[in-house]
Amino acid sequence: MAIKVRFWGVRGSIPCPGDNTVKYGGNTACLELRFGDENRLVIVDAGSGIRELGNSLLRTDLPKGPLKTSIFITHTHWDHIMGYPFFTPIYIPKTELKVYGPVTYEEDTLDKIIGGQLRYRYFPVRQSELAAQINYYQLQETEMDLGGGLKVRTKYLNHPIMCLGYRFEFGGKSFCTVYDTEPFKNVFESDPASPDYDAEAFKEGEIAAKQENEKILKFIHGADLVVYDTQYTHKEYTQGKVGWGHSTFEFAINAGHKAGVKKLLFFHHDPMRTDKELDELVLKYQKQIQGKSKLQFEAAYEGQLITI
Ligand SMILES: [Zn+2]
Ligand SMILES: [Zn+2]
Repeated sequence: MAIKVRFWGVRGSIPCPGDNTVKYGGNTACLELRFGDENRLVIVDAGSGIRELGNSLLRTDLPKGPLKTSIFITHTHWDHIMGYPFFTPIYIPKTELKVYGPVTYEEDTLDKIIGGQLRYRYFPVRQSELAAQINYYQLQETEMDLGGGLKVRTKYLNHPIMCLGYRFEFGGKSFCTVYDTEPFKNVFESDPASPDYDAEAFKEGEIAAKQENEKILKFIHGADLVVYDTQYTHKEYTQGKVGWGHSTFEFAINAGHKAGVKKLLFFHHDPMRTDKELDELVLKYQKQIQGKSKLQFEAAYEGQLITI
């Protein structure tokens, strides 16, 4: 066993508990990663799902000694950090926490954005009162050796604020996160009849978008498991969701196939998407690729555990 991934939250945008989200779950993004026989813990994102993860750690890890772990935040949109004040280990003395993530503006530090949720205007406890030792590290596109054979690579994604994809490598296995992101597009006017149209700029824009999309394919190339943003169907995306920073099932499947990914998990489910709809969509796409691609895929659900 090299890497274990457990999903504590798979939704995008906002928690959405209810009758229609029982199977896939209603919490926002949080992943528990475990590496090797030592069961080394790394967390990705602190959406509302991290509350349950914290409770689970009190039972599984805390009895063995103080918790020392890292949280890698993909970006600081609220659905990815809202669970942080409810992550119980931050109230426990001797917890050592490293919080990594990107910021869009240098003066808006991670400490202020994430830890800043612990202020009286939002919450009854202030960051300065936390018992844990917490350090924040701002990340850009980079490669880091986390020691013990664990490496992580980051990649800029296409989202309204700075957002990173992560690629973890351990024991010959690789695991990637690619959300929240949408396909890179030509930013120049495409209509030759428009006064803003510039043929040369349009051509360059086409090349630049293609190159950026290819960089993502390279980033996930050959990965054993990739968690990909599939908030929308292609139809939904083209009907008013362009520029919102999310991908489609069709785009994710194509990317996974082209990059030779072994298994793809649909993730960042739209809060409006019911269990029934998700089941139907997965079946529909599985039928569409039958005989055309070896790519395996399914929709991630809360509580799911995958070992690679
Ligand atoms: Zn999100
Ligand atoms: Zn976002």
